[in-house]
Amino acid sequence: MAVIHPLNAPGKYWIDCRQCDDYGCCEMSAPNNFRRDELHEFVFKQPETEEEERQCAEAMLSCPANAIHCDGPQPPVDEYFRKELEKLQNDQEKEILSARCDTEM
Ligand code: SF4
Repeated sequence: MAVIHPLNAPGKYWIDCRQCDDYGCCEMSAPNNFRRDELHEFVFKQPETEEEERQCAEAMLSCPANAIHCDGPQPPVDEYFRKELEKLQNDQEKEILSARCDTEM
């Protein structure tokens, strides 16, 4: 049976304290949403923005202990990855264009 920290913010994301290794990787992925007290990691705040939603999904997917759970509809991970890829491609294209402009001047 899952053990949920009493301070876990009510909502769809939650951490099972029995699974969690408490190394805090999720805080790096979603610093607005995950915290640790003297005992365990917990969901400090449920995501409220699209960016926080994406970060919480990233934390859940990268949790090495599979301790982060999401009730209800799962986050649209494919959409997040597609947007990240597009952003990376746009940044790369800007760098290439910028480098071309520098060499042509
Ligand atoms: S990433 Fe997972 S295992 Fe690590 S502290 Fe967060 S919930 Fe716990």
